[in-house]
Amino acid sequence: MPRVYNWQIGREMSYPHEERHSQYQFAFVFNPNRCLGCQTCTMACKSTWTFSKGQELMWWNNVESKPYGGYPQHWDAKLLKLLEEANPGKQNWNARKKDPQSMPYGSFDGMTIFEAAEQHPRPEGQQGALGYLPTDDEWRAPNIHEDTATGSHFTKESQYGGSVELPEHKVWFFHLARICNHCTYPGCLGSCPRNAIYKRPEDGVVLVDQSRCRGYRKCVEGCPYKKAMYRPTTRTTEKCIGCFPRLEGKDKEISPTGAPAETRCMSACVGKIRLQGLVEVEEQGGWANDPTNPIYFLVRERQVALPLYPQFGTEPNGYYIPPRWVPRGYLNQMFGPGVDGAIEQYSCPDRELLAVLQLFRANQQIVFRFEIEQGEKVGECEVTMPNGESRTQELFNDTVIGFNKLNEEVARVSIEEPTFERPAGSHVNSI
Ligand code: SF4
Ligand code: SF4
Repeated sequence: MPRVYNWQIGREMSYPHEERHSQYQFAFVFNPNRCLGCQTCTMACKSTWTFSKGQELMWWNNVESKPYGGYPQHWDAKLLKLLEEANPGKQNWNARKKDPQSMPYGSFDGMTIFEAAEQHPRPEGQQGALGYLPTDDEWRAPNIHEDTATGSHFTKESQYGGSVELPEHKVWFFHLARICNHCTYPGCLGSCPRNAIYKRPEDGVVLVDQSRCRGYRKCVEGCPYKKAMYRPTTRTTEKCIGCFPRLEGKDKEISPTGAPAETRCMSACVGKIRLQGLVEVEEQGGWANDPTNPIYFLVRERQVALPLYPQFGTEPNGYYIPPRWVPRGYLNQMFGPGVDGAIEQYSCPDRELLAVLQLFRANQQIVFRFEIEQGEKVGECEVTMPNGESRTQELFNDTVIGFNKLNEEVARVSIEEPTFERPAGSHVNSI
């Protein structure tokens, strides 16, 4: 297999195709600390793209309650087990070897899904990626174990005490919202024997060419996140298309000047946990240095948002601010070795980070650049840090301003939310 560079695992790796990159890359940051599991995003996607015959069990966007929930069921636990069997005891990170540009989280010394497939060819021939095909049963319940917390090992007589105290809750769950990660090295694309899957050169969105697809389901098997889905009525695969007409600024209601807009699931998010962007990609594949792009700022500059299972090797473009009450071992397995640093920053954000966090759901158009206008100090509060120490957080009424691709102002949010008091007697339901 050709060799490509994957900055998330800090090293070169094998991939079935030669290195080639898009001009921009579709990317997003989700903040599970704020997700309320309302499924508004799920229904926004369903009612836009997957409401037809044959798509009944297809949820391009889903929100699962971790650790027990999953769509399809056990998707991540099953793949982690397969990788462990392929490379027993060696699926480890070396977090000491770091470089801010080429290996920001250190280096993953284990096997990716592509390397495991290369080293363990199957009797029917070498596959593009290690994977498995979920059973029909595993797809049928997108919301299984919703809101189910851990804690079965506690008895009435034993300790529930301290079960929900930071830095780690003893009884815990969290909502993990998921869409296709429009990976830089997609497992679906690498597994397709028909070359029916491609990345758009303009924005890196991963699409299935329906005229080439023959429904072999190799992509369903090879996508580690299980976001390529088979449609029995057409006998082809379908998947998230990144709402590309919105990315192209085709919706004049949202983008009167034709600037790129966020997807339906992002725009609908009630909890304001989602921020989507397009980051500029250099010729060699790295992200162009652009610290005023909010996605670049959160992912590369601050590393407060981390990739989902980077060790799978697809370089996913979905990033998550780790939920701060969850046991660290679980989070380290899911988001890699950057978890402690991310939680530390999120627990007590400085002025700049706090301002950028206000851009989540500030507008439906994609923010390409932000500026911050500094305001006066409006308060301070005591924060308990993950190591138990107390820190004083100063709060300033700064204003963050977001600009779209055409450099037009599309968002302006202040830290202190303006409040209005209605005069008594001026509304009909006054008592
Ligand atoms: S998440 Fe899966 S379907 Fe989406 S690009 Fe990556 S490998 Fe392909
Ligand atoms: S709409 Fe937002 S808050 Fe609601 S479930 Fe989806 S991601 Fe979570």
